[in-house]
Amino acid sequence: MSWNFHQTYTTLPESLFSHVLPTKVPQPGWAVINATLSSELGLDSDQLSSARGMAELAGCEIPAGSEPIAQAYAGHQFGSFTMLGDGRAVVLGEHVDPTGVRWDVQLKGSGRTPYSRNGDGKAVLGPMLREYIISEAMHALEIPTTRSLAVVTTGEDVFRETAMPGAVLTRIAASHIRVGTFQYAASLQDVGLLQRLADYTIQRHFPELAESDSRYLDLLEWTMRRQVSLITAWMKVGFIHGVMNTDNMAISGETIDYGPCAFIDRYNPATVFSSIDVYGRYAFGNQPPIALWNLSRFAETLLPLLHADRNKAINRAENVLEQYERIYLAQWTDMMRGKLGLGNREEDDHKLIQMLLQRMQQNGEDYINTFRTLMNSLEAPVGIFAADPVLQDWWQCWHNRRDRQPQSDRGALQQMQRATPAVIPRNQRVEEALQAASAEKDYRPLHALLAALQDPYDHQRERSYYQEPPPTGAAPYRTFCGT
Ligand code: AMP
Ligand code: MG
Repeated sequence: MSWNFHQTYTTLPESLFSHVLPTKVPQPGWAVINATLSSELGLDSDQLSSARGMAELAGCEIPAGSEPIAQAYAGHQFGSFTMLGDGRAVVLGEHVDPTGVRWDVQLKGSGRTPYSRNGDGKAVLGPMLREYIISEAMHALEIPTTRSLAVVTTGEDVFRETAMPGAVLTRIAASHIRVGTFQYAASLQDVGLLQRLADYTIQRHFPELAESDSRYLDLLEWTMRRQVSLITAWMKVGFIHGVMNTDNMAISGETIDYGPCAFIDRYNPATVFSSIDVYGRYAFGNQPPIALWNLSRFAETLLPLLHADRNKAINRAENVLEQYERIYLAQWTDMMRGKLGLGNREEDDHKLIQMLLQRMQQNGEDYINTFRTLMNSLEAPVGIFAADPVLQDWWQCWHNRRDRQPQSDRGALQQMQRATPAVIPRNQRVEEALQAASAEKDYRPLHALLAALQDPYDHQRERSYYQEPPPTGAAPYRTFCGT
């Protein structure tokens, strides 16, 4: 099957998007193509990998049924409100897969649009491959995320600080409706338009709410709940998004826009990798409160739909958002109980968790590997749990706590193996793969890394090279927005 495009977004008022064609590129070439995702979407992989398929994913040919648009949105970027929009992306259309699920197909790096401002509308190979690697790793980690179908090189240089190879990424997403899309609609001060967008979003992502009398308030609540689950999942694997601007928060609850994102190694909630995040606004431990901040901006856009009386509307929104901290804390604590193999709940579990995290931070222990060591310490402490007297004491508390739960050590181990992956995309391995691909056109390390990141909860598979933390004394890792 080829693309099965059925557009619905274009039934919305045209103030929310612009018809725009991708810019043709001189010489498309494959960088990487995702055969697994292609078959999940019901696409014919021969067709997709043909010269025609490549030309379509480079923006040189428009696939049958496509109606390319750039979407308008606004956003708070590091706290300041700006009018934005797809400045270097077009949505080719909505592909309906054989099971009836609808997907946005977006080309990222496909040239200028009416929303490009001063940008060139282009993307660089390294950052597009980075999005490919990390988004596919997130999917394997069972975290809601946009997917990457392919990266094609364009055969032209893109100028940043120096000339870099250009590329186009094909992104697949449940939709590209963001908090920023609502901010854009709200800024136009047209309640009818806002309501159309809200109804459309409910239809697309929360159809079960469509008949509810309080559907706009429900939209706020369920968007909040999806964000709680998403952030909890990030915290489980040590993921730092890096640019949680409101335009990078999808209402679908998927992780979107992989820029300067990276995974923590040494545990420290203050960790920031992004070179532009000088105040640590999007630090690892700041992600839960920032998500609430973004949801508050979302709630503000919905006020005219919540009640005709603004104070009553604010009151209703506050009643929803004030649940955030409690719901998040409960989910996060359950997630951490999983890491400790605790199958029942006790009031003091939070303390036990915090004691461990605190010591990990003091010692600069690797987040993922500490929990992997704990999996081997069910009967007796090993590694740091044997070497550090503070962790020895902690181990004893943990051991006593496990005596007060019904599940066996075997059950605990299984639970722990689901709560901590055996492998994450280690920063040094990602860099190695990107460097080889973009500087030397050697894609072998990239494919080896992609393969190693599959089945991340399989703790039996040998892949020690991909599990090692960065060498001690390595310079702090830095990421760049890299457009
Ligand atoms: P991002 O940081 O990728 O979320 O992008 C923020 C905004 O800048 C979005 O509206 C992008 O479309 C826009 N943008 C980023 N890079 C470029 C570029 N090279 N040309 C035009 N617009 C861009
Ligand atoms: Mg963005």
